[in-house]
Amino acid sequence: MFELIIFLLGLAVGSFLNVCAYRLPAGESVVSPPSRCRACGVRLGPVDLIPVLSYILRRGRCRSCGAAFSARYALVEFATGALFVWCFFVFGIGPSLVKALVLTSFLVVITLIDFDHQLIYDKVLIWLAGAGVAINLSFAYLPLWGSSVVLPVGPLDMLLGGLLGGGLLLAIIVVTRGGMGGGDLKFAAALGLWFGWQQTLLALFLAFLAGGFGGGALLLLRIRKRKDLIPFGPFIAIGAFVTLLYGPDLVAWYVRHFLGR
Ligand SMILES: [Zn+2]
Repeated sequence: MFELIIFLLGLAVGSFLNVCAYRLPAGESVVSPPSRCRACGVRLGPVDLIPVLSYILRRGRCRSCGAAFSARYALVEFATGALFVWCFFVFGIGPSLVKALVLTSFLVVITLIDFDHQLIYDKVLIWLAGAGVAINLSFAYLPLWGSSVVLPVGPLDMLLGGLLGGGLLLAIIVVTRGGMGGGDLKFAAALGLWFGWQQTLLALFLAFLAGGFGGGALLLLRIRKRKDLIPFGPFIAIGAFVTLLYGPDLVAWYVRHFLGR
């Protein structure tokens, strides 16, 4: 039962993230005006605002003019719902799930915008950093429950994580002479505040692993050409998501197998 509620919540949040990904780069407000059909301008009803429903009930078409909505909206929404349920399976109901869902929402919207525009917006990153600090600070005073709980991240650890995330990316930018952008640097620094230094190291390691495989696959499948810019933000997001769900397990496994403790 909870799975279904979390999934529906994911659909609703995914719908909002679609709006953010479309409007933020255009410099528009994400809360007003209400969404309209891009073909005929009619105001979208409740069913159209949840594209997954619109696809089931109206085959993804505008009820007024019949113009087709892009399938991407429904896909993003469905993916957000699925990621939310994944988080629920790991954490169960509790404060850790709230932290996971907030971070996941940021990762989705940053991925969408970076994929479209090769940009990560400061205004999104400021909210990301602020939310991470607020949640971590409040978690120091909350009883944490659930089927699994996130690691506590204290103020010093947040600071170290932010410096490590930003510093590592800065080193890479200097060495590769701009192979990555300032947005990636700030993104990694903001995630450092969420994760603390140890998990940040893991998240970035996983990001490079995903980037190596993913970038290679994009070139092989000729989705992107060699001289095209491949945005790195989505790979940082993948590394962060895996770290969010399995970071403590992965670190424990690494320590057991490679450091022999
Ligand atoms: Zn229309």
